[in-house]
Amino acid sequence: AVEVHDVHKWYGTHRVLDGVDLTVRPGEVTVILGPSGSGKSTLLRVINHLEKPEIGHVSVNGEPIGVRRHGDRLKELSERAILAQRSRIGFVFQNFNLFPHLTVLDNVAAAPVATGKLDKAQARELAHDLLDRVGLADKATAYPRQLSGGQQQRVAIARALALRPGVILFDEPTSALDPELVGEVLAVIKDLARSGTTLVIVTHEIGFAREIADRVVFIDGGKIVEQGPPAEVLDRPRHERTRDFLSKVL
Ligand code: ATP
Ligand code: MG
Repeated sequence: AVEVHDVHKWYGTHRVLDGVDLTVRPGEVTVILGPSGSGKSTLLRVINHLEKPEIGHVSVNGEPIGVRRHGDRLKELSERAILAQRSRIGFVFQNFNLFPHLTVLDNVAAAPVATGKLDKAQARELAHDLLDRVGLADKATAYPRQLSGGQQQRVAIARALALRPGVILFDEPTSALDPELVGEVLAVIKDLARSGTTLVIVTHEIGFAREIADRVVFIDGGKIVEQGPPAEVLDRPRHERTRDFLSKVL
């Protein structure tokens, strides 16, 4: 589960997140929608502590992120402890961010070895299984530059899965792709959703959201404007700002 409690984040005087509360239950798929600059990426980055909130806190699977209790106070975790927490939260970026100098197989196998979870042989076996799952078993020895964008993004998803994360965060996973490559990436994410992985997905793919989301969250100006099942938020939005946004992206 992901729990975001009253999170505020600002840069200088610019409020980017302004009191966000969000709960994602285990196995749930939450889709986050909102205009450019509304704080969607910042919210994901706060969840895995790439950004530290000024106020509020986040917990993932019951574990406070970035802090620990110390008597009745909260203490900042060490960099090492934060990295360990982050390894339990998958993150898939818009621009794939694969390691260019590693083969596809080694991109997927790297993290479990680096974090000491698996030895090299075990990690490579797992990587083969995960590449098979995303339909890329035949690309194991290729380098990222030899793949299409859709294939690179599927490798990035396999890489996120290699650490067996409790939740995977996706930040516009298909928005850098040519239109004909979007479907293959969405199909992989759909497969994860069906298998019960907890997912938080920022995307403008409304049809996809309608199909797989348990909950859709619309955020604007750093606040959650409305949230609910897709049939409510997408088909019968209650707020003018949501209607306005949907009329532009549909
Ligand atoms: P998009 O749809 O364009 O990706 P977004 O909803 O993901 O937008 P964020 O990236 O979360 O928006 O940014 C929210 C606001 O915070 C923007 O106005 C952005 O300029 C600002 N912002 C983000 N990161 C920083 C930073 N490191 N320093 C200053 N301002 C920032
Ligand atoms: Mg963004």
